[in-house]
Amino acid sequence: MNKTKYQPVIGLEVHVELKTKSKMFCGCSAQYFGKEPNTHVCPVCLGLPGALPVPNNKAMEWCVMIGLALNCKIPLVSKFDRKNYFYPDLPKGYQISQYDEPIARNGSLKLKIKNEKLKNNLEKTIRIRRVHLEEDTAKLIHQFGNQKSKIKNQKYEEFSLIDFNRSGVPLVEIVSEPDFESALEVVEYLKKLQQIVRYLDVSNADMEKGEMRLEPNISLREISNVKFQIINYKVEVKNINSFRFVEKAIDYELKRQEELLKREETPVQETRGWDENKQKTISQRSKEEAHDYRYFPEPDIPPVHWTGNQISNIKNQIEELPSEKLERFKKEYGLNDYDAEILTRDKTTADYFEEAVKIGAGHMIAPKQIANVVINKKIDISSTLPAHLITQIASSKQTATLSDEALEKIITQIVDENPKAVEDYKKGKSNALMFLVGQVIRKYPKKIDAGGLRERMEKMLQ
Ligand code: ADP
Ligand code: MG
Ligand code: ZN
Repeated sequence: MNKTKYQPVIGLEVHVELKTKSKMFCGCSAQYFGKEPNTHVCPVCLGLPGALPVPNNKAMEWCVMIGLALNCKIPLVSKFDRKNYFYPDLPKGYQISQYDEPIARNGSLKLKIKNEKLKNNLEKTIRIRRVHLEEDTAKLIHQFGNQKSKIKNQKYEEFSLIDFNRSGVPLVEIVSEPDFESALEVVEYLKKLQQIVRYLDVSNADMEKGEMRLEPNISLREISNVKFQIINYKVEVKNINSFRFVEKAIDYELKRQEELLKREETPVQETRGWDENKQKTISQRSKEEAHDYRYFPEPDIPPVHWTGNQISNIKNQIEELPSEKLERFKKEYGLNDYDAEILTRDKTTADYFEEAVKIGAGHMIAPKQIANVVINKKIDISSTLPAHLITQIASSKQTATLSDEALEKIITQIVDENPKAVEDYKKGKSNALMFLVGQVIRKYPKKIDAGGLRERMEKMLQ
């Protein structure tokens, strides 16, 4: 056993399905979720000979938009390529993707990494290598056991069905540089990325529906003086569909690889899958190289050309992004980091808050107060209008002030009527005070803050 220390090196490939109306290269509806299998299909997305793909403009613009939101450069020319491989979910025998001229490249995403020990946030920038556009594959449905196939009433031990509704749905792939050093950083990045595509309104990025799929590449580097040491392997864990699983898969891999390295073995360069039942990664196949895919330019689609004007138009469509909104909320409304983070987590909540702040200004209700209610009371913003929320806050403020005369009278009355309780309290029975407070609350017609009332009566009786 050697005692070398190792540093995790992790890079991410993330697939995000765009929510365009139609598919990437044909007019079929891209809204396939929960639909009868093989009802959203045509010769193009079934890969029938002679069918010609026509790129979806909206999908290309949205891919540019994602690239811009991730601080990428958008080359004025890019192109589609064929990535060849043989699998039943790919009817043409190739996937139309982008190889050496992606839509966007060289971007970055800033993360705030929570540091438990230092109790503050560290900033870290993850470099983004590229953002490109491709088409999704069909969906395979594997059936096991002695089930009856729907086909000709035959019986099979095992069989697979193919649903082509997903075939050709626009898919954006976002590839990072291997800049992550822990599963925690990866999850922060993924949350950010999901938030950004939702803010841009180009994808729902719902993991459970497979609209966002994750592939971490994991290796370990020796911590040594050699700064640019070459790592001669990496392990890719394919197609993970939850943040929790990605975290577990990474932690599992780091441990597994460290054990191998400590025995002076090099982990095999391969593709693995996360097995949630067994709580481990499982080898699937040895890693393929780019040349295995025999990439070549897609001959049926001319290269993509943008003008500078088109790119600035797309840029102008991008509304305020989460990190900008968060900073503005802090400045404009005097919120702390924590509040601003929660309120900007999704755009609906952020918009709701701002609407309430506008209305609240007329009622002397401070943004911080509204923030507290929205965050702590877990207001159901889908059923309470901002104006209603303000009315609620305003009236609870009224009842909470203990200054009105009616209340004064009731307190005096209760004290007069209960000399025994007053005496008990003076002898040190704190229960007696609570009894008196309770009597006042029962008599007073409006809602009242019990804590404030107790303090007030305590002072009065001393
Ligand atoms: P491939 O051609 O095998 O897909 P790439 O070099 O294109 O490999 O990288 C794919 C992903 O793997 C990227 O997200 C990249 O950051 C990541 N990656 C590259 N080298 C390493 C490494 N040594 N360890 C972990 N991840 C890596
Ligand atoms: Mg890969
Ligand atoms: Zn189609």
